[in-house]
Amino acid sequence: MAERALRGSRLGAVSYENDQATELAERQMVAYSCPNGHHIDVPFAAEAEVPQTWECRFCGATALKADAPAPEPARIKAPRSHWDMLLERRSIPELEAILAERLELLRVAGRRKSA
Ligand SMILES: [Zn+2]
Repeated sequence: MAERALRGSRLGAVSYENDQATELAERQMVAYSCPNGHHIDVPFAAEAEVPQTWECRFCGATALKADAPAPEPARIKAPRSHWDMLLERRSIPELEAILAERLELLRVAGRRKSA
């Protein structure tokens, strides 16, 4: 019953007078995106359970909650390897230069040992 009244009151034009009066009650604005490109903000009581969909007030299509997680199946980020982290700090040419430097040091050390 209460939900029905709220839904009905949202369909009409919002009067500023009304808005100011109800601003005192704790509310949350929830944004919905309609598949036809409409964006609607629906105020809910702070403690209200916010639905994931809302009927678009412009075209009647089912609008989706804007910040709802996109229905992607796998959003698990692959863990970064040491190599990934290294690549974030050094470019391949840099790494090649470092490798050449280290190899040269090893060669020198090896020559010294055998000498
Ligand atoms: Zn729409």
